[in-house]
Amino acid sequence: MDGARHMTQQEWKQLNQQLLKTIGQNNFKTWIEPLKFRDLQDGIATFHVPTNFLGNYVSQNFADAILHELRTVDPSVCRLSFAVPTHTSTSRPQAPTATARVTKVAAPRPTLNTAPIDKRFTFDNFVVGKPNELAHAAARRVAEGGPVTFNPLFLYGGVGLGKTHLMHAIAWELQTSCPDLNVLYLSAEQFMYRFVQALRDRKMMDFKEIFRSVDVLMVDDVQFIAGKDSTQEEFFHTFNALVDQNKQIIISADRAPGEIKDLEDRVKSRLQCGLVVDLHPTDYELRLGILQSKVEMQQANYPGLKVENGVLEFLAHRISTNVRVLEGALTRLFAFASLVGREINMELTQDCLADVLRASERKITVEEIQRKVSDHFNIRLSDMIGPKRLRSYARPRQVAMYLCKKMTSRSLPEIGRRFGGRDHTTVMHGVRRIEELKVQDGQMAEDLELLRRSLEA
Ligand code: ADP
Ligand code: MG
Repeated sequence: MDGARHMTQQEWKQLNQQLLKTIGQNNFKTWIEPLKFRDLQDGIATFHVPTNFLGNYVSQNFADAILHELRTVDPSVCRLSFAVPTHTSTSRPQAPTATARVTKVAAPRPTLNTAPIDKRFTFDNFVVGKPNELAHAAARRVAEGGPVTFNPLFLYGGVGLGKTHLMHAIAWELQTSCPDLNVLYLSAEQFMYRFVQALRDRKMMDFKEIFRSVDVLMVDDVQFIAGKDSTQEEFFHTFNALVDQNKQIIISADRAPGEIKDLEDRVKSRLQCGLVVDLHPTDYELRLGILQSKVEMQQANYPGLKVENGVLEFLAHRISTNVRVLEGALTRLFAFASLVGREINMELTQDCLADVLRASERKITVEEIQRKVSDHFNIRLSDMIGPKRLRSYARPRQVAMYLCKKMTSRSLPEIGRRFGGRDHTTVMHGVRRIEELKVQDGQMAEDLELLRRSLEA
């Protein structure tokens, strides 16, 4: 054996599956997907990379993992080489190897032109509804470029509501309309890794230069740096330097700046000084809209596969607000239906998604109901639970008791206990009273329907 085995593109793709598992989806997407495998010869695996920075980063962080996988195909492989393709036909691979210290980022000054952007995450593919319309409008505004009007744009909201999607869409749009713009997207976690790496390798000057030379900086999931003091410190300086230069910054987090624990006050207040917008949990209409748009995408992969009426409505109703879960369910449904050669109807949906449907059965709590109802009728929670018998408190209290009976599995005595220790007969009376009013009083019926919907959302 001379070890000069030629690995195919196909084989590299297969190794990717294992790599993805080893280093996680985020890392994989950001760092491995942009690599273009060229060849594997004489123990050297060569990849094309969009930037030197990416090559250096991969070489420093993932060389071992990549080598490990490559060796399952060719045990003689001992080195990785990364090259930025040039316009001439021969591209000279750049030096970095798995073992050697990586040389300084090439070019007169370190640049970072191409942050890997996920091309599925565009504005075209983003479905707009009430819960996300503000965030969408703000993102659109920033994506137009031009003079910076609010800095930073701070997007926040729960998991799977489209923060990352919007950030990629902005990056994508900006890079398309102004290719010269230096747009950098990264997660707060990657920011920290790069920072730590720079400290370790005594490359802080390069680090600072890179981050201060971008035109648009996007940091996703910034809550990650809470409690990590020196990363916060560096982030704060980077942030200020860019704001001073009037460079656009876009940040996302899973909650509002003020609510991120262990984040220094000065960082919090910096984050709040631009435009803060939240993505609300999806509602039924938005979920249905998203499902309809994703069905069209799925049908491109599975032509001819039909979805029976009522299935999307059912899913929009039953699956939680997290769009990622919704998407996953749909993907599974299409794959399953095409495997078994059936059309997508209710029966198949129930079979195929039994676990998802069970997991997403929302357990609504008594506290949630009490909070929602007191908000709805504009009274204080303490008055709802407290002893006062005023009609303006008693009626909302009865509504809340009714909803607790209908929407939770709590018994009457349990419900009574949570309403300031009332007797179960009081609860029963309240529930009956609301049942009557629901029939007699249109306003009451409407209130109940609204409350039920918002609790189920
Ligand atoms: P987050 O970053 O808020 O956790 P993501 O942006 O990763 O959420 O979104 C999760 C998934 O749901 C992605 O595949 C994204 O494309 C999709 N998604 C979220 N919101 C929408 C929307 N309004 N329209 C279309 N797809 C969406
Ligand atoms: Mg995200």
